[in-house]
Amino acid sequence: MSRRPLMAGNWKMFKTISEGVDLVKKLSAQTADVTDRDILVCPPFTALAAVAQAAKGSTIAVGAQNMNDNLSGAFTGEVAPGMIKDAGASHVLIGHSERRQMYGETDALVNKKAKLALEQGLTPVVCVGETLAEREAGNTFNVVERHVMEGLKGFTSAQAPSIVVAYEPVWAIGTGKTATPAQAQEVHAFIRRKLEALFGKEAAQVRVLYGGSVKPDNIDQLMAQPDIDGGLVGGASLKAEDFARIVKFQKISA
Ligand code: PEP
Repeated sequence: MSRRPLMAGNWKMFKTISEGVDLVKKLSAQTADVTDRDILVCPPFTALAAVAQAAKGSTIAVGAQNMNDNLSGAFTGEVAPGMIKDAGASHVLIGHSERRQMYGETDALVNKKAKLALEQGLTPVVCVGETLAEREAGNTFNVVERHVMEGLKGFTSAQAPSIVVAYEPVWAIGTGKTATPAQAQEVHAFIRRKLEALFGKEAAQVRVLYGGSVKPDNIDQLMAQPDIDGGLVGGASLKAEDFARIVKFQKISA
């Protein structure tokens, strides 16, 4: 089955409110003619509401980069899913490798957050992927399997189409070292099989994005792979021209 591509930008800890609004307006103007793929931008929390407001009337959806795993409470410095929704977001990144590595997020926490996001009406974009050490030790598939099976534990087949998975090999994030299309495809096909084990035929509706140094000059080759359904883009999503080119990837054969 053919899945509608989802091209997502993760702005990380970049862009003030005015810079974010400017970026989304430029991106909206440059992608106004795009009708056959979905576009998502994930600004920092401070710019979320303003960027969502600026994106209204465009085809660009807005997501948060993280959320707390509780509905409300005494969690100083944290942001609840309902607050993210209230700010105008429809998606939330869960378990980005930077959060797993720098803030100790575990598979159990990722699972709890992903479930809560969905319950609160947000689409969770669940990030999975191995480190360089794990790849070099031959553990890529074990790690990715654990991230997928533990991170998506307890979801029903009916919920599957509302989940997005992002495969991001940690060694490719922000390093300029992209996985080759063949390396990415191999893991994406593996993830698809794991999704089938979890969700049966509904797995065919789960979009699996690739992330890790996606650029205007490598997106076409990546998107030509049968199991790559979109991109999660960091650095190259910070410039409207670059991200617009990524959104407008050319359909070529693998
Ligand atoms: C990311 O932030 O998820 C990412 C993939 O970053 P970059 O594109 O800069 O490697």
